[in-house]
Amino acid sequence: MQTLAIIKPDAVGAGKTGQVLSVLEQKGFKVRAARLVRLSRVEAEAFYEVHRERPFYAPLVAFMTSGPCLTMVLEHPDAVAYLRDVIGATDPAQAAPGTVRRLYAESKERNAIHASDSPENAVREVAFFFPEAELRKLDG
Ligand code: GDP
Repeated sequence: MQTLAIIKPDAVGAGKTGQVLSVLEQKGFKVRAARLVRLSRVEAEAFYEVHRERPFYAPLVAFMTSGPCLTMVLEHPDAVAYLRDVIGATDPAQAAPGTVRRLYAESKERNAIHASDSPENAVREVAFFFPEAELRKLDG
């Protein structure tokens, strides 16, 4: 089973990319695809479309386009629910000890990592960043 993760611009900019990846690998995820991207405004708006009416939508789009982020497809038998556990609550102050957000997030917005929140969204989000043909190439 696959899910989409994004190491956000705060963590990449702070030089924490390797440390976050290390936690994810230690927790048992396999990295199946990865690409460093600088999201355009149009891409960030489309990715977070579901939040368009929320007060934090415009600042969220500004933050997500502020610098490069690392988009990844992660694999694990229970990838979606398990990655949500491993990243912790949206607000790092509420996140459990040892979670990625507790360890590396700065604030509720600048919270280090994104992870798909349902199997349906995982399929949509993986396809958003990684066309299927590209993933198939890895299987040789
Ligand atoms: P997630 O699934 O835990 O990432 O949280 P959501 O899907 O609810 O929100 C998407 C992203 O919007 C979060 O990861 C934060 O970066 C940002 N965000 C969510 N809620 C807030 C908020 O109340 N204030 C601000 N400034 N940003 C928020």
